[in-house]
Amino acid sequence: MTETSDKHQQQPDISVVVPLYNEEESLPELEEWIARVMKDNGFTYEVIFVNDGSTDRSWEVISNLCKKNGNNHGICFRRNYGKSPALNTGFEAARGKVVITMDADLQDSPDEIPELYRMITQDGYDLVSGYKQKRYDPLSKTIPTKLFNATARKVSGIKNLHDFNCGLKAYRNAVVKHIEVYGDMHRYIPYLAKLAGFNRIGEKVVQHQARKYGKTKFGLDRFVNGYLDLATLWFTGKFGGKPMHFFGLLGSLMFIIGFISAAAVGALKLYHMYSGAKYSLVTDSPYFYISLTTMIIGCQLFLAGFIGELVARNSSRRNHYEIEERI
Ligand code: UDP
Ligand code: MG
Repeated sequence: MTETSDKHQQQPDISVVVPLYNEEESLPELEEWIARVMKDNGFTYEVIFVNDGSTDRSWEVISNLCKKNGNNHGICFRRNYGKSPALNTGFEAARGKVVITMDADLQDSPDEIPELYRMITQDGYDLVSGYKQKRYDPLSKTIPTKLFNATARKVSGIKNLHDFNCGLKAYRNAVVKHIEVYGDMHRYIPYLAKLAGFNRIGEKVVQHQARKYGKTKFGLDRFVNGYLDLATLWFTGKFGGKPMHFFGLLGSLMFIIGFISAAAVGALKLYHMYSGAKYSLVTDSPYFYISLTTMIIGCQLFLAGFIGELVARNSSRRNHYEIEERI
């Protein structure tokens, strides 16, 4: 084996994954800063820049950085897919023992890398998430973020995290190879990791800088979408493999309630008829229609459960389990 291919085979200590979209000004500074920290601490490393379809000169800058330093690598999407697909692609390529993700806009500091590395390799964490305790973002972002994190803590059951969406995170290599980040799910990577069985999730207070160049790529719609994604994750995590347990229960309950109330409307009419009291058509009573609608919705929910089961049965992952060890 030649020396170069030997070097290529060796697993570096750290892979830094940097998703980026139109960040040409920040890249050279970021690359230099990362290289300096790695050199000062004697880490072997690789940086994977994932260019998410930038329309500025970012890819040209990355190509030059790769020529300059063999530790740098680049992946270029043909169009803009979003931060989650960029991270997922970076995760697939990452070879390091510890994988660190970092935004490209210089808001996250590479000086945090050594401590994050130590927490993963020595303290035994699967995942360590940064916590921007002191943020340099506008209030319109920091207040909804607090609310968002409180909900995420409650729903995911990861009670010790204050900042789910921090771009700076460190993972044990196995974690990134066993989670799939898609859509806009980068906000919930700790929850994805927990759902995949990685429970040792820690947090580290990190320095945060104001954006130096360019502008943020996410608007206020991040909070609406964020909540919808959280609902999806909660639902698929809990009932994804057994949809009937949700729809069937709800559907049966509604059907029974509707049936009993329809029967009561009918029985009441019969009673009035035979006791000689004044009576009217059942269709004159609003309760009749309410009962009917409840029964119909109950049936629909039950059917949704059946269809859900058919879909789940066809999933290629229906019998996919994460086995940690065998002896
Ligand atoms: N980003 C990306 N694809 C996108 C949007 C953003 O790769 O479609 C990158 C962006 O270049 C940055 C990181 O994701 O490196 C975080 O984005 P940003 O700084 O805009 O988010 P904020 O700090 O405002 O949460
Ligand atoms: Mg940013």
